[in-house]
Formats: sequence, structure tokens, C-alpha cells
Amino acid sequence: MRFDIITIFPKIFDSYLHESILKRAQAKKKITITTHDLRDFSKLKHRKVDDSPFGGGPGMVLMAEPIFRAVEFARRKSQSAKRKKVILFSTRGKKFDAKMAKRLSRYDQLILICGRYEGVDERVAEHIADEEISIGNYVLSGGELPAMVLVEAISRFIPGVLGKYESLEEVKGSYPVYTRPEVFVPGRDKKYEVRSKKRRNTRTSYLLHLTSRNEWRVPKVLLSGHAKRIEEWRMQKRS
Ligand code: SAH
Repeated sequence: MRFDIITIFPKIFDSYLHESILKRAQAKKKITITTHDLRDFSKLKHRKVDDSPFGGGPGMVLMAEPIFRAVEFARRKSQSAKRKKVILFSTRGKKFDAKMAKRLSRYDQLILICGRYEGVDERVAEHIADEEISIGNYVLSGGELPAMVLVEAISRFIPGVLGKYESLEEVKGSYPVYTRPEVFVPGRDKKYEVRSKKRRNTRTSYLLHLTSRNEWRVPKVLLSGHAKRIEEWRMQKRS
């Protein structure tokens, strides 16, 4: 799978997409992520890519032409890719979810167009993009976060991307998890402090009383070693 991200802020992606699972997925050549600076595709002075909206109103609108050129460039970069899709991020788009992520994971190339400012010239939605996607009912300042959300959620469905330590929530379900210690006492250091043998006065026992009431325990069933009961408990808690 090849992701091509068209944005006016390519640096935004430098850190997030190069850590952890996505870093490994790229190293293993399971996915390729390329960002394209939209300004590189401007033919105007000062690499201009936006203009004010016809009909008036606030803000600036990303122009169709540089986006058209960037998309053509990204398409040419991957001639071997058979199944391609061009996605435009828009607050009016179809709501993104796991089912959509799974469907999109079957493509060879996804070209993601990140809007900014007041949005994108509607002709991009009409003639260039195959799909418009929103990641939720709120307005962000740009399509960059939505692009990262898509890349990550889709990549997790690509075989070989998740290692043995991670696995799809869609397969195993999502249930609460705990790790060491079995009992966590918030502010335990304090408890040890007042526990010194010599000073066992009322104040000490009061503090001990307080902290012992504050023991955060792991559910017993998870410590039982009883695989079947653990599975049942998880089933019960599963979302
Ligand atoms: N005035 C516009 C807001 C544009 S926000 C409107 O009401 O629709 C600027 C860009 O950010 C959008 O063009 C889109 O690409 C992106 N964006 C903002 N919120 C988003 C969301 N919830 N999902 C996907 N893209 C979003």
C-alpha cells in the first residue's frame, strides 16, 4: 500500500509517521508514505495555492489547479498500482470508521488531499476526488490530522503491519487490561515514611487507615491463572 499525502504542511508528518508501528511497517516495506508539498505544484508567484472565495465571505480557499497537478504527479509515481483512490478530507464527507478503514486497506494507492483555511475549491470534490471523508463531527484546522488517522487505522488492517504484540481490536475485541503491580497504593512512599516502628501514634494509624483504603487492585480473576474464567470475564467487559 502506498499513501501519498498532499498538504501545505508536510513537516507535520515528519514525527508521527516515523515512530512505532508505522515506522516498522515502512521499514518492512508493508507501506510507503510520501508527502507532497502542495506549494511545489503552484505555478503562481510566491508558490501561492489559495485565493479568496467567489461570492465573498471570510478566509481563503485552496485552488483546484495545484491540487490537480499534485494528484497527477502522485498517480504517475505509482504506475504499477492497480487499485487507486483519491480521498479529499472534508467536514461534509462520509464518516470514517473501522469498516471503511478495512475496505480502504485493499487499495494499492491512496492519495489523500488535506484541506486548510476555509476549505478546498469544490471542483476538487466534483472532479478529482473519488471520496470525501470526515473523521468526526468537529471542525479541525486542516486535513493533516485526519490523514494521519486514516494512515494509521488503515495500515493496521494490512497483513504484516501489526506484530505479535499488537493485534486487531476488531478481532480480539476491546476489554480492560491491567499490568504490574497487583496492588497500587497512591502515595505509598508516604505510607512507608510514617510506618517507622518508633512512631506508631494515632496520626500514623490514621494515615495507614487512609492509604489502605486507597488500594487500587487488579481484578482477582485476572490473577487466577484460570484461562476459561479470564476469557469469560473479558467477554463480559468487551465492547
Ligand atoms: N469551513 C469549512 C472548514 C474547513 S476546515 C467547513 O465548514 O467545512 C479546513 C480543512 O480541514 C477542511 O477542508 C478539511 O480538509 C479539514 N477538516 C477539518 N475538519 C475535518 C474533519 N472533521 N474531518 C476531515 N477533515 C477535516
